[in-house]
Amino acid sequence: MRQPLVVGNWKMNGSRQVNQTLLTEILAGMDSVTRCQVGVCPPFVYLAQTQAQLADSRIAWGAQNVSPHAAGAYTGEIAVNMLQDFGCTYVIVGHSERRSLYGDTDALVAEKFAAVQAGGMIPILCVGETDAEREAGHTEQVVQRQLSAVLTSQGIASIANCVIAYEPVWAIGTGKTATPEQAQAVHAFIRGLLAAEDSAIAEKVQILYGGSVKGSNATELFAMSDIDGGLIGGAALKAEEFLTICRAPE
Ligand code: PEP
Repeated sequence: MRQPLVVGNWKMNGSRQVNQTLLTEILAGMDSVTRCQVGVCPPFVYLAQTQAQLADSRIAWGAQNVSPHAAGAYTGEIAVNMLQDFGCTYVIVGHSERRSLYGDTDALVAEKFAAVQAGGMIPILCVGETDAEREAGHTEQVVQRQLSAVLTSQGIASIANCVIAYEPVWAIGTGKTATPEQAQAVHAFIRGLLAAEDSAIAEKVQILYGGSVKGSNATELFAMSDIDGGLIGGAALKAEEFLTICRAPE
């Protein structure tokens, strides 16, 4: 049975003071989170603070992006070994905001995915369709293309050590959540694609749902058989709301 996982993506939010309070409040509520693995992904500059505050806790932390390059003249970029240096477990790759605002292509996402795994961390690979793509009936085609970029270059074995996040772009930060049935259908499709290559790996990989998950809708989403938790944006910035989501799979 797959363990549920809830990861907070803080995006470009926070300050030292705000993070300190948020993490203190989340830590204080962790006793009632018994079954779920929990992680947070702050902005890069707060990884040291996050590491210091979470070091002896059950909460893992990670980054929201990474360079595919190991080192060198890449002004403004952050390398895998730097994230290792700060004890990261997870690195989000292919978030739709990176894809749409910063030109992260399927091929670049696959390179980042490979770099993260080579560095001993776990990529959280985001896939998902836009509103127009869903309206046009292309959801499966888009998700398959995004997944194939990694499968073709890294092989099915690489999926054994990653997390997949299905995040319909139209549901991210919009307050519009996919229904549990809509989300389950895509999760089952993803698992089916993986199962066609290796059923044991497909059965084992955690597939998270992301897109306006809140305390009030997490339970029904996480109850679906192929939804193994969530990647949480806005609701991860409020301790009580985030904890409610983390308790949803109990
Ligand atoms: C996200 O950014 O990954 C996300 C799911 O955001 P939100 O929960 O705010 O929709």
